[in-house]
Parts: sequence; structure tokens; C-alpha cells
Amino acid sequence: MLRKRIAVIDKNKCRPDACGNYLCAKLCPVNRTGTECITPGSDNTARIDEILCTGCTVCIGRCPFNAITIINLPSHLNKSPVHRYGANSFELYSLPTPIFGQVTGILGKNGIGKSTALKVMANILKPNLGNWQDPPTFKEVINYFKGSETQKFLEQLQKNEINLSYKPQQVDLIPKQFSGTVRELLQKVDQTGKIEELAETLQLTAILDNDITKISGGELQRTAIAATVAKKANLFLIDEPTSYLDIKQRVNISKFLRSLTNEKTATIVIEHDLLILDYMTDALNIMYGQDNVFGVVSGIKSTREGINSFLEGFLREENVRFRVKPLKFEKSQETKTGRIEQLVAWKNLQKQLGNFSLKTEQGVLYKNEIVGVLGENGMGKTSFIKLLAGIGKPDSGELDSEIKVAYKPQYLDTESEMLVADFLQKAIEDYSHQLIKWLDLEKLFTQKLCELSGGQLQRVAVAHCLSQDADLFLLDEPSAYLDVEQRLLIAKVIKNMTNERETTVLVVDHDLMFLDYLADRVIVFSGVPAKEGILHGPLPLKEGMNQFLQQLNITLRRDITSSRPRINKPGSVKDREQQSKNSWYG
Ligand code: SF4
Ligand code: SF4
Repeated sequence: MLRKRIAVIDKNKCRPDACGNYLCAKLCPVNRTGTECITPGSDNTARIDEILCTGCTVCIGRCPFNAITIINLPSHLNKSPVHRYGANSFELYSLPTPIFGQVTGILGKNGIGKSTALKVMANILKPNLGNWQDPPTFKEVINYFKGSETQKFLEQLQKNEINLSYKPQQVDLIPKQFSGTVRELLQKVDQTGKIEELAETLQLTAILDNDITKISGGELQRTAIAATVAKKANLFLIDEPTSYLDIKQRVNISKFLRSLTNEKTATIVIEHDLLILDYMTDALNIMYGQDNVFGVVSGIKSTREGINSFLEGFLREENVRFRVKPLKFEKSQETKTGRIEQLVAWKNLQKQLGNFSLKTEQGVLYKNEIVGVLGENGMGKTSFIKLLAGIGKPDSGELDSEIKVAYKPQYLDTESEMLVADFLQKAIEDYSHQLIKWLDLEKLFTQKLCELSGGQLQRVAVAHCLSQDADLFLLDEPSAYLDVEQRLLIAKVIKNMTNERETTVLVVDHDLMFLDYLADRVIVFSGVPAKEGILHGPLPLKEGMNQFLQQLNITLRRDITSSRPRINKPGSVKDREQQSKNSWYG
């Protein structure tokens, strides 16, 4: 009999000992008739029989730990999945297709199976066609894809005609798996004999002899990319190459990955920064479905059409609507009303910190505004905030007050055993609607911080910061690990909290589309990383963006359909025209 629905049990949340001994089974109407629809599994978590389940949803509402999800399967998915991790677990339907001579993107929300798809392509995960107890042979898998491009790809894979190289998403795990210097790591994987050249291109030369545990997140990311391309491969699978990188490095990495691809090589990239995804790729697959339940890969689309379809939530060719409302990164035209009140002002500050010197021009922050901070890593953003907070005094210049600052750091504590509910106590008491409900955090309350995914931890950390008693809030890279939908959501939450608390928020981020949507004004840093940082502004958004883009030597235009910003091809008619008019931020 064909199943009509997928039932997924979150094994991290299911706690039969704490819910009253399989409460769901006691309440399930099918169980109550004497048929065993919900039973204890071999690992003691609940098991749901997807054929017997009627989809009545009783168990979903009554499980005290929100461990159950039951979804009616869309009619076009009446086939076995490409892969299922086990009973009542996530299912992946279909795979992306590499295109030789092109960089292909994968775009979709977190938990939709992008990394699973990439692992199948990378031969790390053997697809089981939903039969995890008795997995099929590779021949049977090839047969499943008969007549498709994936069949050709798998056959090439079987004949060893495809040499893969895979960069995993979590580069922060590398120091836990390898000990030694950056050079030693690269030498270990090198098949090209071009380590010095690669290091030069990816700006790693200065840190080649540094211990892998002592380098920054951005350096780790570039090392991971160097290690991936140091292997002789004709298919590069790159999972989130821009986390921890500043915008200049993001643009450089995009150019670099594009330069790898020729008619004998294909590259597939997962990326959430839409501006960069747009710039980096020629075509893309969208992934849709239900997070942590099932994921489907769409047919291949041109990058522009694909990103616009994703924002729209509708796939024309497939005739599938996967989101009720479109995502809009358009700024509202409403102007802020009320008195403009100054929070803090400064003039010509100077501070020497070892070999690094920080200088500012004259600037003011007002209450009830969001100020974006644009600049490369290592320009002194944190040092400036510390001065505002009264942690250390400037060597010279005028600073009119000390203010209380709440800070969300770039690197979050991933090892804390604290329960989410305890960590968010103040947010729960004071901003349960504005933070907890909007960011959908209640379902995480019973988990420990160390058990959360990167995206979950980010949302929790932003909520924690915004609930503190402070005059100024600094959010350092709040978009990291978030998917596109979550970035828009978190931007809305920051906007609402700023308005409601009439407070001031500084947002350091390298996703320009996110900042373009969020910021009222911007601070721009110039100088030389780790040597000298000069702070300009806050400037009006257009002026600041223009100044910053000029530093980067890139121009942006607006997409006619979606109004989203797009990077112009260097040297294109549009690029030259905008540069000649000094209109970098079109
Ligand atoms: Fe208890 Fe929920 Fe697990 Fe069912 S799914 S056994 S109700 S914790
Ligand atoms: Fe039982 Fe299915 Fe209803 Fe849950 S949704 S109570 S498993 S019939």
C-alpha cells in the first residue's frame, strides 16, 4: 500500500520517560482501536507507522516536546525517496545535476536537505532509495534515475570518470580533526603541486606556517577552499564558501571559484548570500519541501530566473508553490516620526592597540535607528564599540558619554550546556511576543545551547542580545548560518525592536542585501586590515554604500522584476556607465 504521509520524530526531543510513557501512543485514535500505529522504537523513541497513520494530528499537539511532525505528501511525490536516514526520519527526493563548464548553485532553506544532496553527489552518502534496512545496490540506484541526467552522472561516478572534491559546511570542525600548520594540512591533500600559488590567490601566504587552531574563521574558510581545490578533481562540491568572509573576500572567492570551471570541470555551490550566489553561479537548482521532513530538488534554472522564483515562492515549470507569500527585501517608504534624540557623539578619536591604529572622523548615533557597519575584517569594529561602551579610553579626541552596550559576538559559544529557556529568561519575561514568538524559539526551550544547529543558535543569540537592558546593541554578523527566509525574518525583528524600544542598533554584516534592507544609515571603514582602520560616518545609506562599493570596485544595479541588488559584471556596459556617473550603488 502507498503511503500518503511522512511522519518524522525528532530523536533529540522525544523523551518517553518525561512525557508520561509514550503519551502520543496513549492518545492516538488508531492505537485506541487496538492497532499499533505508534510503538516504542528500538532506540526507545516513538515510531509511527506511516501507512496506518490517518494524519489526524492529535499526537502533534499533545507531545510536550514538539517532537512529532506529520506532513501529507504532495501527490507528485508518490514514489520512493532517493534517500532516507531511517524510520521516521528526513527524506530526500531527487538530486541536483552538475553541468560541466558551469558553476551551479543550490538555493533553499535550512534543513531542506542541501548538504544531504551534496553528500550523495560526493559519494559520502550511499543513497538507499528509502530502504535503510536493506540498501539497494549501486546498479539499482542508477536504474531508479533511468533516462535522467543523474543516471549519466552516476554511471560516470561508477566508472571513476568523476573525481570529486568536497568542501564541507562546518569549517570550524577542521581544527578538531587535524593538528598541524596550514601548510601541513595543504601538503597532506595536495595533488597539484601549486600550494604556494593557491596560498597567494587566497591570501594565505602570511599564515601558511600558523597552527590551524590559531587562525580566524575567515582564514579557516579560505584554507578549506584551498584544500578542496588542491585535489585533482573535475567536480567541486562547495558547501557555504562565504561564512566568516568579509564582502571583499566573498567577491574574490566568487571570482576564484568561477575561474576553476572549464568544459571539463563542474562546480556546485550551496550559498545563502543572494548577491554572491547571483554573482558566482550560471544556473541553479532550488530545493523546497518541509524543513527536517522532506526536500525536493527543482529542475535547473538560470541564476536570475531561479533567484526570482525562489523569492516568489513559485516554480513555474514544475507548477509548484512552495511558499504562500513572496519574500521581499524592499525597503518600506515610511519615514520615522518623533523627536530625533542623540545617543552618543564623537570627534577625531584615536586609539593605538599594539601595531593597529584606529581613527575616526566626527560622528553621531541617534536613538531609534539601525546603523549598518561596512568594512573588511580586522579594521577595528569591535575596538570602536569598546570605546563607546567605556571599556578603555581613546588616546585622543572627544567622546561625549559612556553608554551601556549589549553585544552579540561573531563567534557563538557552541559548547554551553545551558538550557535555551534559561539563557532566554529575560526575553521570555519581557519580549515573549516580539522575540520568542516571531523567531519561533519556544520549540527550542528544552534543548541545550550546545545541541542547536548554527542557524538555531544564531536566532537564540540575537534574541538574547536584544532582550538586555542597554542603550546600544551591537549585532556582529547576525546573518551567519541563517537561510534567506530567516535573514529576512531576523531583519524584521531587529527593525521592530528598534522601533518599539526606541533604541540604537549597530549591525556588522557582510551580506550587502541584508544590510541594504535593514540599515537606516551606514558606517564605512577604510584602511588596511590589522594595521589601520579609519571610521567614516554614519553616512546616509546611499552615500555610504556608494563609498564602500567604490572601495571594492564593484557596481550594483537593481533587478527589474524583484528590485533586489545585483553585482554588475566587471567591465560590462552597465558597470562602465555607472562608474562614469559615480553611481556605484544603483
Ligand atoms: Fe512522548 Fe512526544 Fe516522544 Fe511521543 S513523541 S513518546 S509524546 S516525547
Ligand atoms: Fe496517530 Fe497519526 Fe493521529 Fe498521530 S496523526 S495520533 S500517529 S493517527
